[in-house]
Amino acid sequence: MNHIPDTHCHLQDPRFDADRMEVLDRALDRLDWIAVVGDTLESSGAALALARPGVVAVVGVHPYHAESVDDGAVDRLRDLAAHPAAAALGEIGLDYFNEFAPRAAQRPAFERQLALAAELGKPVVVHNREADDDCLAILRGHMPALPAVVMHCFGGGPESAAAFVELGCFISFAGNLTFPKAQKLRDAAAVVPLDRLLAETDAPYLAPQPRRGQRCEPADVLLTAAELARVKGLDPAELKDRLRENARRVFGVRGPCRS
Ligand SMILES: [Zn+2]
Repeated sequence: MNHIPDTHCHLQDPRFDADRMEVLDRALDRLDWIAVVGDTLESSGAALALARPGVVAVVGVHPYHAESVDDGAVDRLRDLAAHPAAAALGEIGLDYFNEFAPRAAQRPAFERQLALAAELGKPVVVHNREADDDCLAILRGHMPALPAVVMHCFGGGPESAAAFVELGCFISFAGNLTFPKAQKLRDAAAVVPLDRLLAETDAPYLAPQPRRGQRCEPADVLLTAAELARVKGLDPAELKDRLRENARRVFGVRGPCRS
């Protein structure tokens, strides 16, 4: 049996309050490891509190909360990111679809957190929604100083995927890859080289097709990996090997290697 990680979930979300440890047990039973990702300083701290063997944290401030990224927030984030279980900074980026913070605040908040990741030598997990041009331009300036960049829950088409791949990014697909109408995402996955491909859940959001509409949990990443294998025309075990190796290269995490 081949195990893979879930490189992006929000297990600290209140929707897991009633059964978080059972969900975590199921995840670690079926997966290599999971990354619990923050979107505010508070949820980043909660992600770190869940860290244990098989669970790493990703800490950062989401573009929705860009206006909170002031000097004090960057200092607090630096402290959180210094924790040995903080494998990366994220999720950070730009969201021009849900413009909950003005674009003029999103860009500097993204830049400051990219600079912090470079200072700490950590990879970044990027949220990008309908902001390709600015995202590419900002990342281009920071790429040389970053160990790795993940485009999380990729939502664009093949041209967009190719542009981020050319820049050097990893492309991570979530459960929406499996939705019947998501041919654009499958076309995007088809052009991503095998050494740049990742899978994630973004749980509790975006449960893959057979479980669509239900609360997503980390173990559901296996359904997305199966769809990726179909898109790539690969044996599922071979694709899982690639996903596990790519995730190890980005996050530096090795799972229990039960395959
Ligand atoms: Zn997320």
